[in-house]
Amino acid sequence: MIDLHVHTNASDGTMSPTELVRYAKKKKLKAIAVTDHDTVEGVQEALDAGALENFEVIPGIEISAEAPQGTLHILGYCIDYTDKAFLDTISILQKAREERNPRIITKLQELGLSIEFQEVVEQAETGQVGRPHFAQVLVQKGYVKTPREAFDRYLKRGAPAYVEKFRFQPAEAIAAIRKAGGIPVLAHPVTLEYKKSAELEDFVKELIHLGLMGIEVLYPEHNRSLTKQYTALAEKHRMLITGGSDFHGFNIKGLDIGTGKGGLRVLDALLKPLKAAAESL
Ligand code: AMP
Ligand code: ZN
Ligand code: FE
Ligand code: FE
Repeated sequence: MIDLHVHTNASDGTMSPTELVRYAKKKKLKAIAVTDHDTVEGVQEALDAGALENFEVIPGIEISAEAPQGTLHILGYCIDYTDKAFLDTISILQKAREERNPRIITKLQELGLSIEFQEVVEQAETGQVGRPHFAQVLVQKGYVKTPREAFDRYLKRGAPAYVEKFRFQPAEAIAAIRKAGGIPVLAHPVTLEYKKSAELEDFVKELIHLGLMGIEVLYPEHNRSLTKQYTALAEKHRMLITGGSDFHGFNIKGLDIGTGKGGLRVLDALLKPLKAAAESL
């Protein structure tokens, strides 16, 4: 088994890239792809750890993009994570976060909560600051019992401390990945929240037109029937099939690397076509 969707503490995972590689190896996985939100800061360390541990690591990223509805994330695999133009492009997203985060703090303070930005930064350690770090601080301070409650009461879209995030258009995210020699893959299609499969297909066709090359078919939130639907969609449009757990560390209970909520199985066999596609770009 492999896992093509994991987060490190370069974004909102709890493990360092080295810890993650060691853990994946301990769990007897054959390879992982490091896919942090909007950053490749964790990739080099993961590759170095992989070389030391004789464990295969695929460089990746997960970029948030504007969606017609629901949530759209584009995974990028086998990217040249040192590509200057690519780094310049994603630095726009980091700058946008730097402007957004203090505004979230202001909103929380206006709601009467005692929280300082520095506390959230410390929570993120050296990684990029995101809402999960705000959630952790709110838990530690006793304002909420769980990160989930922090999102529901304060941080999720529509909640009182929510601040909209700048996102790329789908075309920009896909083009950035392609230009860096990577394979753009639609992450967890379930979060697009299309009720009808024909509507999802229409949207996927648009993404294919923009350069999309794969679909993350295997994902903890995809039940049997969704997995079947997405497999058929991928096969019909000759898309690569990928899968992963979206592991963020032990802070999210009941979700492990490789197996997800217990039933996830991503076969090693998916890796070869993915790498072959990247080679032939
Ligand atoms: P950000 O990129 O700062 O907007 O944070 C997005 C991250 O927050 C996601 O990748 C999830 O890990 C987490 N997240 C988003 N919505 C929720 C939610 N409703 N409950 C728990 N975690 C969430
Ligand atoms: Zn995340
Ligand atoms: Fe995602
Ligand atoms: Fe993810």
